[in-house]
Amino acid sequence: MTTIRHHITDDLLMGYAAGILPRAFDLVVATHVSLSDEARARLSSYEAIGGAVLDDAGEADLDSNSLEKTLARIQGMPMREPSHNRGRGIFPGPLYSMAGGDPDDIKWRSLGMGTKQCILHSDKDASARLLYIPAGQAMPQHSHRGTEMTLVLQGAYRDESDRFARGDIEIADQDMKHTPVAEAGQDCICLIATDAPLKFSGLLPRIAQPFLGI
Ligand code: ZN
Repeated sequence: MTTIRHHITDDLLMGYAAGILPRAFDLVVATHVSLSDEARARLSSYEAIGGAVLDDAGEADLDSNSLEKTLARIQGMPMREPSHNRGRGIFPGPLYSMAGGDPDDIKWRSLGMGTKQCILHSDKDASARLLYIPAGQAMPQHSHRGTEMTLVLQGAYRDESDRFARGDIEIADQDMKHTPVAEAGQDCICLIATDAPLKFSGLLPRIAQPFLGI
């Protein structure tokens, strides 16, 4: 049983229910929701509200380009978890589908010091990646140019704000500078969505950044 202490915010759940999040954030929310009964309950209430609003809208006058907008929306539709896909191991269904397997099947790319990543999706709005941090290892200190949303899948890490374990969500923004450190005992695997490159404090990570796409 996963005990989640850091829950997702209402605005992200509403954005997910409305289908307006970038695909990378959509993946993180879908994965969190499949780990959290609490988030799933809140999400279904937002989906019910959305349905009621649509029912009330009746036959509204459509503006001239509404068809194009609708088609664009459909093409950009975030993926939804097929109900039969329950995932395997530490990857819940939505992530298992996107990653094409479990952690052993992932084509990890080394970031040095035993840390590694795999970019699962990247477009003009945001990117989603898996990050593997060996137990006890620290990530370079960094701040953020946009929003960074981290979901822990295995192990746990600590930073200046708190401790985060499986199912927990951390949202970092421009105001936050942190140094995540994986806890001793078990290697930490996280799913992360960002909508802008990170800002590293140290010279070496800054030099490596363009090559690593982080
Ligand atoms: Zn960060």
